[in-house]
Amino acid sequence: MRLILFGPPGVGKGTQARLLSAELGIPHISTGDMLRTAVTEGTELGRKAKAIMDEGRLVPDDVMIGIVREVLTSPRTARGFILDGFPRTLQQAHALDALLRSLRIDNTVIVILEVDEEVIVRRLRSRLMCSTTGKIYNAEADSLTTGGNCPDCGGTLVQREDDREETVRKRLAVYHKTTEPVIEYYRANGRVITLDGTAPIESVNRTIKSVVGA
Ligand code: AMP
Repeated sequence: MRLILFGPPGVGKGTQARLLSAELGIPHISTGDMLRTAVTEGTELGRKAKAIMDEGRLVPDDVMIGIVREVLTSPRTARGFILDGFPRTLQQAHALDALLRSLRIDNTVIVILEVDEEVIVRRLRSRLMCSTTGKIYNAEADSLTTGGNCPDCGGTLVQREDDREETVRKRLAVYHKTTEPVIEYYRANGRVITLDGTAPIESVNRTIKSVVGA
């Protein structure tokens, strides 16, 4: 299965990708998670990316394209992948197309998750992330607090720096201006399905699996 999960920040791409990855044994490739790992490890990439991410801006295309090229040409993704957070610009989409063509991959499905903007702001304001595994929780729905422990692994729960309301609004503006045009590009070129991102997690999961024939 080769899947690109597409949609604004906070729509649930990561949650769906993690579920599908666990169920189907296909790697979840999240460019955001890779960058956050680089920041935590203090690598050169992490040092460069941190300020950009904290401000809700995009890391330069050439850097991101290089990272994704390395992953998609590695044996780890030879049987499939679930891409989450890439591509985010037309240049990234063009580079991904060229890469997939060179790998003779032509069965990629693009799933677009849609959701109302105010729902996103509310969701992200109360989103908590396990600092060990990256698993996502909702503070209110799951009765958890920042600094508390992950119910799964005991790791510390944190709020992402870029989930503050002001930064979320900036990320949404970047999404509309720079990332949304990629949807039109894919509608014209590829296999695209659009789903309601406010539907229950299990129902979105089932629909994605039925569409990709998993
Ligand atoms: P995410 O976890 O997907 O919301 O990504 C968090 C942040 O990482 C974004 O707001 C960007 O600053 C950066 N980022 C992740 N993926 C990309 C990408 N494909 N292109 C540029 N920046 C990215």
